[in-house]
Amino acid sequence: FTPDSSGGGAAFPPELNTGQPTAARVYDVMLNGKDNFAIDRQVAHASLAVMPELKEIAIHNREILHRVVRFLAAEAGITQFLDLGSGLPTARNTHEVAQEVNPDARVVYVDIDPIVLAHGRAILAENGNTTVVTADIRDPQAVLDHPEIQEFIDFGKPMCVMLCGILHHILDDEDPNGIVRTLRDAVPSGSYFFITNFTRLGDASSSVELEKQLLEQLGTGRVRTPAELAAFFDGMELLLPGIVPLPMWRPDRPVVDSTTVGVRFMTGGVAVKR
Ligand code: SAM
Repeated sequence: FTPDSSGGGAAFPPELNTGQPTAARVYDVMLNGKDNFAIDRQVAHASLAVMPELKEIAIHNREILHRVVRFLAAEAGITQFLDLGSGLPTARNTHEVAQEVNPDARVVYVDIDPIVLAHGRAILAENGNTTVVTADIRDPQAVLDHPEIQEFIDFGKPMCVMLCGILHHILDDEDPNGIVRTLRDAVPSGSYFFITNFTRLGDASSSVELEKQLLEQLGTGRVRTPAELAAFFDGMELLLPGIVPLPMWRPDRPVVDSTTVGVRFMTGGVAVKR
């Protein structure tokens, strides 16, 4: 195992490829985590050269996740969270926020990257209401049918399906809209969808440049238009304030300057299936 990994006592899967960057590990670099390799840091630094605000953006993405999970657990009565593309465990994960409100809240973390399970297992071993599954949402039916997910989530009861910062890693020809549709059709009414995505900035070329660099170096990283993002929520009812720059979704504190790239490059929203 490469010496630049923190290890953390986790049993690393043999399929871990330290020569290829992964989205989970590049994002970990953005959040100042330690579970990344030289190749991930290289991609992260190239991305930061194009858009220096990316670290701030990653924090905004974590903060909206906290606000949404807290709102759904505390005010919408949601007790189950299917966190797709959950990423490496970091500060204040979904289960911590949800279980702070309701200790019985159940959380399933799903990620394509086996490093997430390796670290998740170590951290979540003690938490009976939380589990981690390695699966690929590009086959959403397989995710829904996964025995561990079936065992953990009651598909007869409303849940929150979280697609936070993952759909930009699904290319257009991998049918992100179809993935969301399949998930939407599988959950009961009263379920919520929480989606955030890289969003094209009309007036700044850095978003176009970043997409090019990420597609070249990471193989994913689609920056979508507001209309493309809105289409993900088709057939559902968006909660106020709609699809907005992340810091502007029900903020805990006033957003000082809403015009910056750091604020606007990722947008997201929450919708309910009626
Ligand atoms: N959801 C977390 C957040 O918003 O803070 C982490 C987001 S991270 C930017 C995106 C995650 O999606 C990565 O951990 C990556 O491995 C995962 N991912 C990408 N493609 C995936 C797929 N096809 N199936 C499951 N997970 C995927």
